[in-house]
Amino acid sequence: MSLTLGRWPRDRARATPERTAVVFGDEEITYATLDARSERLASALLRAGARPGDRVASLTGNRPEHVELFFACAKAGLILTPVNVRLTAPEIAYQLSHAEPSFLFADPALLPLAAEARAASGHPVRIAELTRPALDSLAPGAEVPAPADGDGLLLVYTSGTTGRPKGALLSHANCFWTNLSLDRGCELREDDVVLQVLPQFHVGGWNVQPLLAWWKGATVVLEPSFDPGRALRLIADRRVTTMMGVPATYLFMAQHPGFAAADLSSLRRVMVGGAPMPEPLLRTWLDRDVPIVQGYGLTEAAPNVLCLPPADVARRVGWAGVPYPHVDVALRDTETGELVHGPGAGELLVRGPNVFTGYWRDPAATRAAVTGGWLSTGDIAERDADGYHRIRDRAKDMYISGGENVYPAEAESVLHAHPGVAEAAVVGVPDPRWGEVGCAFVVPAAGAAADADTLLAHCRAHLAGYKVPRHVVLVDRLPRSAVDKVLKSELRGAWTASRLQKQ
Ligand code: ATP
Repeated sequence: MSLTLGRWPRDRARATPERTAVVFGDEEITYATLDARSERLASALLRAGARPGDRVASLTGNRPEHVELFFACAKAGLILTPVNVRLTAPEIAYQLSHAEPSFLFADPALLPLAAEARAASGHPVRIAELTRPALDSLAPGAEVPAPADGDGLLLVYTSGTTGRPKGALLSHANCFWTNLSLDRGCELREDDVVLQVLPQFHVGGWNVQPLLAWWKGATVVLEPSFDPGRALRLIADRRVTTMMGVPATYLFMAQHPGFAAADLSSLRRVMVGGAPMPEPLLRTWLDRDVPIVQGYGLTEAAPNVLCLPPADVARRVGWAGVPYPHVDVALRDTETGELVHGPGAGELLVRGPNVFTGYWRDPAATRAAVTGGWLSTGDIAERDADGYHRIRDRAKDMYISGGENVYPAEAESVLHAHPGVAEAAVVGVPDPRWGEVGCAFVVPAAGAAADADTLLAHCRAHLAGYKVPRHVVLVDRLPRSAVDKVLKSELRGAWTASRLQKQ
């Protein structure tokens, strides 16, 4: 028995060779072709000097050659380390010097950036183009040995919303189990058509739907990057049945002028993760008869941990659900360090075959993250009497105002419920009297006349005084990471800079 993912295209090429695995623009790639190409590339990489266990970096938007490279690495026992295309050359250089890959495959348009990063890294990585002709020009010939279940498969640098990125190493077994778990949440079938808009340099770009789709023999409509208008058109044209996104993915689609008339009738259910779906946005999609599955996860857990199925989504808005099969969770009291039994709150811990192997070349960070098999998530969660979990906030985003712990997520969900608010993010900022107070950054809804006083009055009507932000800053947009998560560190920085200017 093998849990390695190189088997998946091989098994599919036997079972459903003529079915379409990937659609990319006008291109359609069958399972037989995906398997043959990835087999050839696995052999070519080894012939070109890569050794099992070596890292292979990629710098690219989503494209079929990247899928081929993923499966080639899976077959050859190489570790794919996809680099975020939004990073600057010095940031990429850091990852190259840390992961020390033997190859860096880049989108042609990103070759100059790749070269600049290599020069800055001091690591002599071999740069190659990630295009069909370039891959075809690599000659096969080496025998492809089978990797073991515990061998590394994906090395994903966490998006860095908190400090310097760390490389989370996920093994074949981690990816196998997290996909098996996910299957319960999205119940993918062979006749599903999955729209992939999440980037493949994020763990969700592999382990939240696409890989499961290729295991099941479904079709993935691959988008090079997310464009809300194009996504809406593809859903109708390709009769897409499911997709995965973060709340901003669904917000930008709902705000698109084409949303009202878009044909969404093919969607069987869609998944959302990375953050809870704000209630008005959830209603907007439910009103269009699109069932929603809410997930919670993190890179270090490969990432799938909690799932709230469609039947629960409308009556448990803001909740993240129950653990996936094969996954255990626990809550640890942040003050006593004791495990919380039954209903309560504390830091969420995760255990299971999906929990990562460790941080690449960082045993101290790994020891700090995993104790006795339990992964510390850094998220504060609450559990109710039915065993459902809700993420209150990240421990690191909590602030203390006048001695009270304040979780910004509460004020954010109150602000999101106001019709004048399109998006809101709250951070703790220094205050001479209270130690810290909340500062809300708000993007007003189109055509709405939201002013700070109205929004503060709305917060006061729904929140205890100490949870009400003291400042409201209206902005055109919120700073977001490459997977559209709000970068709170930038908001805190923006606040500090604006205060310094005023002094
Ligand atoms: P870094 O680890 O560098 O801070 P990151 O947190 O963005 O980056 P990810 O692994 O992409 O790294 O994100 C995982 C985090 O996203 C979780 O720890 C949690 O804080 C948040 N998250 C994910 N799903 C949900 C959800 N349903 N509700 C609330 N928060 C969520």
